[in-house]
Amino acid sequence: MTDQPIALVTGAAQGIGYACAEAIAESGARVVLADVKAEEVAAAAERLGGGAVAMPCDMGDPDQVAALFARIAAEVGAPSILVNNAGIALPGDFLDTSLDQFRRVIDVNLVGVFLATQHAAKAMIANGIPGAIVNMSSINAVLAIPTIAAYCASKGGVMQLTKATALALAPHGIRVNAVGPGSIDTSMMASVNANPEAIRTVMSRTPLKRLGSAREIADVVAFLVSEKAGYITGETIYVDGGRAALNYTC
Ligand code: NAD
Repeated sequence: MTDQPIALVTGAAQGIGYACAEAIAESGARVVLADVKAEEVAAAAERLGGGAVAMPCDMGDPDQVAALFARIAAEVGAPSILVNNAGIALPGDFLDTSLDQFRRVIDVNLVGVFLATQHAAKAMIANGIPGAIVNMSSINAVLAIPTIAAYCASKGGVMQLTKATALALAPHGIRVNAVGPGSIDTSMMASVNANPEAIRTVMSRTPLKRLGSAREIADVVAFLVSEKAGYITGETIYVDGGRAALNYTC
């Protein structure tokens, strides 16, 4: 065992999660990358290097989440950093959305965050670690889109879960915050990127007139888990190119 901090990033095979793993590794931590895509996450850990470890896990499956934390404890040690980033949107017409689709989004985006936070916090407390947790929320925690009702509900839930867990874990010196991205250039935005009309709509409501990069989200996450953010807890920071501040589109 060394004194090197251990970080777990979920949904880390690509996109914002991988960028978070990279930024946190640069700050000196050893990173465990978890993702439902086993081959892709193995390749991502290999690419990251520096002792990074890949662990396949479906964050929407409570048994797999429990097994993930047992494996981390046995093979790597107790994490002092957790980034709950794994997320899905499953867009579609609200009237055609099945209960299974709705539940799947809530299970991955909200229940998964609850479970991982609880497992991580118990390990931090047992090991006397004053840890830091960051949840990946969204601008859709506060602004709704009709074709992703479950996603909006899950991210609104993440915002409140962030506050409640920040209060619950403050006595243990564990901070919990969230980052709420606007429109970020990852595979989640691929269908928008491929459609000129859709991209025009996104730009009309984005004052900085561009998509954000995964790294611009990861840098805020790396700040929030660092000692520089030692007095911040229960907060959601929106990194959205000014979108939430905008009162009209033209
Ligand atoms: P992405 O689709 O590129 O990456 C998501 C990653 O999560 C993938 O590697 C995927 O395999 C993994 N994942 C999906 N379901 C999982 C599960 N059940 N268990 C474990 N891993 C799973 O998307 P992204 O844009 O990088 O999104 C990352 C996070 O950022 C998500 O929570 C998303 O809601 C949030 N977000 C993204 C945007 C955006 O514009 N891209 C905006 C706001 C919020």
